[in-house]
Amino acid sequence: MLDIIVKIREGHEHESNPYHLDRIILQAISAKELRTIFPDLRKDDLLGQPLSGVDWDVLDYLGWISPAGHKGFVVINLDDRLHGITLRRAINSFGKPKTQMCSWCHHVYRGRGTALFTSTVIGSQGRKSIGHQLCMNLDCSLRIRNLVSDPPTYLPETVDLHYKTARLSAAIRKFIHRLNAQNFPQII
Ligand SMILES: [Zn+2]
Repeated sequence: MLDIIVKIREGHEHESNPYHLDRIILQAISAKELRTIFPDLRKDDLLGQPLSGVDWDVLDYLGWISPAGHKGFVVINLDDRLHGITLRRAINSFGKPKTQMCSWCHHVYRGRGTALFTSTVIGSQGRKSIGHQLCMNLDCSLRIRNLVSDPPTYLPETVDLHYKTARLSAAIRKFIHRLNAQNFPQII
């Protein structure tokens, strides 16, 4: 995903940002903040791109996949606090491809395009996990802004971007609450 974001930034560098009037949920995050949010982050799992190359103006959350492909990381600002979630990713590569919708951004994929992301509920001693079908590259922010069109959504919506960003952050907020992760880890 970060590859895509950097490319978008390059493409828009000399143009006005058409989204500047939208409510910006995510401010630029520093490497130090990332280390605070994910103290156990292994070097292998770090973002493959420098944070200075990220176009924060088009992000509701920062999401990336570990190079090995089996882990996903999400950072979002809710109520002026940064929250981080570590997720396990299982790509739906078996069986017949079917229509799937991302639970967070509602992008509909006719074939493969989502993956099952799961995380362990805090306080459950590893016994309880919650999973969501999400865009497999955690690029929901780009999809609701039509900044990636491959594949386009199977069911286009007529709702505006404000509605989509509010719905996206509400879905992530709910997910964080179900994980009992609203207080951990977070930084102000
Ligand atoms: Zn999505």
